[in-house]
Amino acid sequence: MEYKIVGAKRFIAGAVCPQCKAADKTITFPINRFIQSEENGAVEIEDEIMACVSCSFEQSKLELSLSAQKIPASPAEIRPLLVRDATNKEG
Ligand SMILES: [Zn+2]
Repeated sequence: MEYKIVGAKRFIAGAVCPQCKAADKTITFPINRFIQSEENGAVEIEDEIMACVSCSFEQSKLELSLSAQKIPASPAEIRPLLVRDATNKEG
């Protein structure tokens, strides 16, 4: 997936990576990326990436939401529940 990072990376407190099962290694950050629209061609949208710093796991929150709900979701409504500054060291 190609995207442009548009905001700060933040750790998701208490999150466990679904791929490597590492705790507190999952980060989230806002992005802009292009999707193919049948009507308008390439359209830039706001999305959010959930990624793991311990492995190569990467998941678009928008795609995750769409696959879970099967209905269109507004990216503006997708917000992490618990975040903390990624620059903070553990402890
Ligand atoms: Zn991982």
